[in-house]
Amino acid sequence: MTDLRDFYQEIILDHYRKPRNFSPLESATCQARGHNPLCGDRVEVYLHIDTGVVREISFQGAGCAISTASASLMTEAVKGMTLVEACALFDSFHDMMTGTGEASDPIDLGKLEALSGVRQIPIRVKCATLAWHTLKAALEESNNNTAASISTE
Ligand code: ZN
Repeated sequence: MTDLRDFYQEIILDHYRKPRNFSPLESATCQARGHNPLCGDRVEVYLHIDTGVVREISFQGAGCAISTASASLMTEAVKGMTLVEACALFDSFHDMMTGTGEASDPIDLGKLEALSGVRQIPIRVKCATLAWHTLKAALEESNNNTAASISTE
């Protein structure tokens, strides 16, 4: 188990030090801003959605290692997904972090499993889920042109 924990730790540190898709998105069709007051994490998620598919996704913000790594891993996972798949991934990830088991059709989380250990530290769960709630807010706002804003509290 120690080896797996080390491996997960490496993934988180790698994505914190070199966040993927870390830039604004000129062609964004929707975006949302999230804030986790418990830790001070801030994130903005940008999406370019075309014919029901997430063609591009990026994020910006400032936060702790867990919130940054989670956002980075999320952009890698969601890019190229349909909106239905992205929502299913949100549900599965949320289940993993909260242990509620609400996803009707859980899907393989792949590298996102690296964040599963955060569940042991309840105060950090919101760090890990911030980008995901922001993604969901952006998807829900995608039908109008106003930027969404969420706070996890
Ligand atoms: Zn945090």
